[in-house]
Amino acid sequence: MQELKNFPLSFEFFPPKTLEGINNLKNTAEKLAYFNPEYFSVTFGAGGSTREGTIETTRLLQQKTGIPLAPHLACIGLSREALVEILETYKHLGINRLVALRGDLPSGAGAEGDFKRAYELIKLIREISGNHFYIEVAAYPEFHPQAKNAFYDVFNLKLKSEAGANRAITQYFYNIDAYLYLLDECARQAVTIPIVPGIMPITNFDRLIRFSKLCGAEIPAWLYKRLASYGEDQASLKAFGIEVLCKLCDRLIKEGVPGLHFYTLNQYETCEEIISQLGFIENQSHKMSALTV
Ligand code: FAD
Repeated sequence: MQELKNFPLSFEFFPPKTLEGINNLKNTAEKLAYFNPEYFSVTFGAGGSTREGTIETTRLLQQKTGIPLAPHLACIGLSREALVEILETYKHLGINRLVALRGDLPSGAGAEGDFKRAYELIKLIREISGNHFYIEVAAYPEFHPQAKNAFYDVFNLKLKSEAGANRAITQYFYNIDAYLYLLDECARQAVTIPIVPGIMPITNFDRLIRFSKLCGAEIPAWLYKRLASYGEDQASLKAFGIEVLCKLCDRLIKEGVPGLHFYTLNQYETCEEIISQLGFIENQSHKMSALTV
């Protein structure tokens, strides 16, 4: 039996572009705030394409929910000056947590900016802000698509850790062995920062396949075939997706993971169902109850 009291949860959102999207996000964040998460994070379009949206969404969620915010910041395509300005804005807003990334410029996009790797951005953050920000970075259990070999990502994670990163969040995965082997390799290469699994709920087959091709996450054959077989039957697909994710999260908690980071895609229902089934209980005063699974 496993204690879930104060178990760290975090939820990732993207900046909405429409009024309807903003209202939906407010509702989603309010529902998920009941689980008393450690923080909410807000994605950033590489090259600064969502720069204002990320800042505005961060400000909105901070005011609306009182949950600590961790805006993402991707350095590719931006000048040092632009990055420093964004960091100053966050300091001014009282933000003290960031997800620091390289990002991917859309193909055909212009200049690459002053920094090409996430560890360079982390050095900049530490240089100009000292220890003001708690810095999360990305890690890849099934390897980054540009990794030179199976060991390079962990070497790269070490560079990020030595530059001042505090913790990592993984790309999503459905094969626990990939995550556990990443931890083993980190131990071998003396990378000691905690590595929180990124959790992608399954709600839409086509979207999952598209995302996974882009980011290099593997959909195991048994899972792919089961999901594909549901065809237009969305309700059964969602129910099966919840079952798979509950088992995955339950096993990860039992492995002693330092937290769970949910890619919400700005939807609360599936995350809420998974987290509730795991034994976390919503509390109107944002306090999580001590429960066991
Ligand atoms: P880095 O740590 O700099 O590099 C990652 C990997 O790329 C390295 O391990 C290495 O294998 C390879 N690599 C890159 N450059 C080289 C090189 N020159 N030589 C050798 N190897 C190299 N993207 C966004 O645009 N916005 C977001 O908000 C966002 N949020 C994310 C959140 C999480 C939790 C994760 C896991 C990813 C997120 N991404 C986001 C995607 C991320 O920006 C991309 O995966 C990007 O390609 C790499 O970013 P990074 O910070 O991991 O880069």
